[in-house]
Parts: sequence; C-alpha cells; structure tokens
Amino acid sequence: MAEGKLLLEIVTPQGLVFSEEVDEVTATGSEGEFGVLPEHVPFITTLKIGILTCRKGSETKFFFVSWGYAEVGHDKVMILADSAERSEDIDVERARAAMKRAEERMKKAEEIDFKRAEAALERAMTRTQIAEIRRMR
Ligand code: ATP
Repeated sequence: MAEGKLLLEIVTPQGLVFSEEVDEVTATGSEGEFGVLPEHVPFITTLKIGILTCRKGSETKFFFVSWGYAEVGHDKVMILADSAERSEDIDVERARAAMKRAEERMKKAEEIDFKRAEAALERAMTRTQIAEIRRMR
C-alpha cells in the first residue's frame, strides 16, 4: 500500500465492483454521510441507499451503493453492499422504468409492499441522480 493512500474495495454478491488505491472516500452510512482519509480510526457502519464518492488526485468517481456494511481501517475501506455500480455503468432508462414501476406500486400497495416500493423508488432516484451528476461533468 502506497504511503498516505486508502485501498477502496466495493464488493457485492455479483462480484468485485471496484478495487483501487484512492485518497479519500465519502459514503452514506445509516447515521449519515461520513468521510474517510488515510489513517482514519477504524470503525464499522451499516450503509443506506446512497452515493459513494472517492477522490484520486483531482479525479472524483461516483458510485451507487445500496445497503450493506462499510469496514474502515487505517489504510482501507471495504464496502460490502447488496448492489453497487460505477456511475458509468448505470442504465438511466432502467432506473427511470424502475422509478415509474415503484410509483405505480406505491399508489396501490399495502404497508409491506409500500415500504418495498419506497426503497425501490429511492434506489431508482439515487441512480438517476448519479447519472445526472455524471452527465454534468
Ligand atoms: P430493477 O428493478 O431495475 O432491477 P433494483 O433497484 O430492484 O432495479 P437492485 O436489486 O438494486 O435493482 O440490483 C439488482 C442488480 O441489477 C444489481 O446487480 C444492480 O447493480 C443492477 N442494476 C439495477 N438497476 C440498475 C441500473 N439502473 N443500471 C445498472 N445496473 C443496475
């Protein structure tokens, strides 16, 4: 590991999404957004549906991350998530279709299905938000 760097690994049940040395990571923990620099105090937190960013020099990368855990060590951040994608792999049309489906379900659904549809809507909205950030850059 290079001095002053963090190894960021993002893993899902589908496999390894990302594994690179970076300078800084921010992610959406269940208690709110957190930032990690090298030599951070180790901790573990659960993650919500949200945006993860990492900075490598002057370059910032964006990821969609849904649920799971972050394990932070002095020189590494391990993300174990239900699903995760690099911003460039997000299919906007698919996210828009998912958003529409979820909205339709929320109109008719009972309690449990409503919660499920709400989470699907949040995933779809976050994906489109990341795709929009990518488009603006
Ligand atoms: P959908 O209803 O479109 O499947 P979802 O939110 O239910 O969306 P997830 O359960 O979060 O999907 O993910 C299932 C798999 O599909 C994961 O591998 C995830 O990375 C991928 N995926 C889901 N939506 C998209 C998208 N818009 N672009 C790229 N990959 C996606």
